[in-house]
Amino acid sequence: MPIEFEAPKPIIQTQFMLKTVADEMMRPRSRYFDEHEHEIPWDYIEFMHMAMKASGGSSLAPQEESSSNGRGDKGEGKYPPIGYQLIAAQIESLSYGDLGMYHCLPGGALGAAAVHAAGTPEQKEKFLARFKDEKPTFAAMCITEAGAGSDNSAIRTRAILDEKTNEWVINGEKIFVTGGDKSFSEYEKLGKGFIVVWATIDPAAGRAGMRAFVIEGGTPGVNIVRLEHKLGIRVSDTAAISLVDVRVPYDHLLGSPVVVERSTSGFKGAMATFDATRPLVAASGIGVARAALEFLKEKLAENGVQIRYGLPRQKLSNIEREVIDMEIMLKSAWLMVIKATWMADNKKPNALEASMSKVKSGDVTTKITQKVVEILGPLGYSREFLAEKWMRDAKITDIYEGTGQINRLVVARQILSYSGSELR
Ligand SMILES: Cc1cc2nc3c(=O)[nH]c(=O)nc-3n(C[C@H](O)[C@H](O)[C@H](O)COP(=O)(O)OP(=O)(O)OC[C@H]3O[C@@H](n4cnc5c(N)ncnc54)[C@H](O)[C@@H]3O)c2cc1C
Repeated sequence: MPIEFEAPKPIIQTQFMLKTVADEMMRPRSRYFDEHEHEIPWDYIEFMHMAMKASGGSSLAPQEESSSNGRGDKGEGKYPPIGYQLIAAQIESLSYGDLGMYHCLPGGALGAAAVHAAGTPEQKEKFLARFKDEKPTFAAMCITEAGAGSDNSAIRTRAILDEKTNEWVINGEKIFVTGGDKSFSEYEKLGKGFIVVWATIDPAAGRAGMRAFVIEGGTPGVNIVRLEHKLGIRVSDTAAISLVDVRVPYDHLLGSPVVVERSTSGFKGAMATFDATRPLVAASGIGVARAALEFLKEKLAENGVQIRYGLPRQKLSNIEREVIDMEIMLKSAWLMVIKATWMADNKKPNALEASMSKVKSGDVTTKITQKVVEILGPLGYSREFLAEKWMRDAKITDIYEGTGQINRLVVARQILSYSGSELR
């Protein structure tokens, strides 16, 4: 089969449609929600929920159908599967609109991704069906703790089985949970969401003891302690959550409860979640950088500076060279996202490519948004325009779901065939 570099039709269509959403629904509200931190963008949430329902989708989170080809034949027919590639394109387009508001998109997000990666087929059906409901519904994933971020195998949140009631009893503290409030608190306008909490069922077993638990919204013992005040993506709620004697049914543990000696199956569930979502975080960063770069080109054009593509490099002005270099960086980062998502769509192990795409995008996104502010000078620094906000927003894509340093470690381990304990 010949290699094609054209995006498939469903991707082009979705990009076209989401450009309107970005321009009409997101950009005009970007500054307001940046300045009114933690205010919930209800009209946007409701609009997006209706729009997704009307188009037959329910969530951008990976689902069973995500290996499909966007044309309804699950990749078994004449078209290759493009599910994750389509999601990446959607996320890039929405983040081009506003990265924080993209995080307010109803759906399962990381919570559903964890169910998808670690749950049984029955659990996936049970927990993911709600995202097709009448009301917008959210889910979140809680793995990070004060002493366990990059090294999340060090988590201390503990789950103990109460054999009398056959319930898990969970105690611990989680921090930096994206969408934690909308997934757990009760809001009249929202459906009942859930949080997925990673805990250990056997601290002596290390990574082998890690398991994920679905905790339904409103479960007693769970408290949203605070919402973080942040540098960027300020419309996205980032919650600190305490869990005190939280009781969940036995079958809310995702996958198998058996601790297999020296096996790291629980930890692998967490890592499988990231293999799916790291290229998507990379895509989101690229959307922000594209927004900044397009804005720069617009402002340059207004001031009579056109980029003269095709001229030899030595004949270009410094600004033209810088713009072209940024465009190259952005395109190459996007190609890495396509590779990592293409592998996921074709069920090929993609841990290496997922981390590579995130490293590359984190670097490129941070550099481009800073450079745009630099070239624009006072216009870049002024709150009159969004360039300074994009610079603040962009940095998070190099931090969450594995910092740049941690993803570099993952890449090195994969290439050199070292385990986590051999190269840390
Ligand atoms: C806005 C936001 C949203 C988030 N959303 C979620 C969420 O939804 N769910 C969730 O569970 N978590 C979430 N996080 C947490 C995020 O994933 C962690 O902050 C991140 O993984 C880093 O962990 P840490 O904060 O413990 O930093 P640390 O691990 O303490 O890292 C601090 C610094 O040390 C570096 N470092 C650490 N170890 C090494 C090493 N071995 N080699 C080289 N450098 C190293 C890091 O790269 C970093 O620069 C979110 C964080 C933020 C800021």
